[in-house]
Amino acid sequence: MGQRKGRRVVLFPLPLQGHINPMLELANILHSKGFSITLIHTNFNSPNPSNYPHFTFHSIPDGLSETEASTNDLVSLLLLLNIKCAEPFTECLAKMVSDASEEPIACLISDAIFHFTQAVADSLKLPRVVLRTGGASSFVVFAAFPILLERGYLPIQDSRLEELVIELPPLKLKDLPSVVYVSFGGIAALSEAEFLEIAWDLANSEQPFLWVVRPGSVHGSEWLERVPKGFLENLGGRGHIVKWAPQQEVLAHLAVGAFWTHNGWNSTLESVCEGVPMICMPCFSDQKLNARYVSHVLKVGVQLENGILERGEIERSIRKLMKEKEGEEIRCRVSKLKEKAIDCLKQDGWFFMQIFG
Ligand code: UDP
Repeated sequence: MGQRKGRRVVLFPLPLQGHINPMLELANILHSKGFSITLIHTNFNSPNPSNYPHFTFHSIPDGLSETEASTNDLVSLLLLLNIKCAEPFTECLAKMVSDASEEPIACLISDAIFHFTQAVADSLKLPRVVLRTGGASSFVVFAAFPILLERGYLPIQDSRLEELVIELPPLKLKDLPSVVYVSFGGIAALSEAEFLEIAWDLANSEQPFLWVVRPGSVHGSEWLERVPKGFLENLGGRGHIVKWAPQQEVLAHLAVGAFWTHNGWNSTLESVCEGVPMICMPCFSDQKLNARYVSHVLKVGVQLENGILERGEIERSIRKLMKEKEGEEIRCRVSKLKEKAIDCLKQDGWFFMQIFG
């Protein structure tokens, strides 16, 4: 079938084989229906253009170092790709959009994991269609997160692991994902002993976690040299350590059940605005005051009173927040505070007055 005018689509696959293949399948189907196909792809794991002479290919630099590209830590890789591809992808797509000699683009089709592409498509006034390459059943579960949260299934409590999720048969609670987010902002630093204590307590908590360790934030090491050999591997994919994370987006994710924070003011507000209860570990300055308000006035978090070097305190706090009755009350309060924050933000800054006034 010949190509029809106004039917050019741009596709952007995630550079992992299980994501590239379905995107190319879709491209073939669209081509057979008369669409002209342009593929933007990263240098990393690039498809072979000679296998698809009927498509146009544009390669963008992904900026991954050799070590980054060969990591086994998938979560870090996906975060890095979302950060490092943003600029070259925007540049490449903007050029295509403004090229008057080419047929106009009908829409962008991007992999769901390339979440930064929504903002790019919006800025270029292009419709964006998302290709999800996972099964429909996992999509249903992710889409059901708001209900699962509202009905108290999440965060998952140990005592309920074998319970059926009535709304999603035959799933059991233990089949659902649930996560602790750990980050101490852009300034706070840790001693080696504190760093190791955090690592062991996270491991012992038995909860999935995403931990941001800023390079240079542990005294005496550049990044993760102090992590015991095999630490993450032994957790079987339950724990991920990254150098940076898009914090607001992470906190907005419904899988995040708690934020272990240094209570920098931005982090505190972001946690409240996303309704995420906090484990407060202030380091200095206003962080101590913020933490005390969060734990004792607003009561939307628990504070580590004895410092992290007290063995088991972190583990107990995580448990309290994620699994015990007190944690349930805290989660309920932070959800209400989130609603209040959203309402107050609509009224030109009354938020600050209402929560701390
Ligand atoms: N931040 C981020 N990703 C990271 C670490 C930090 O986006 O991996 C952002 C976080 O969302 C917050 C800011 O950096 O907006 C940190 O500010 P905060 O006042 O909480 O702490 P500070 O860095 O001033 O101690």
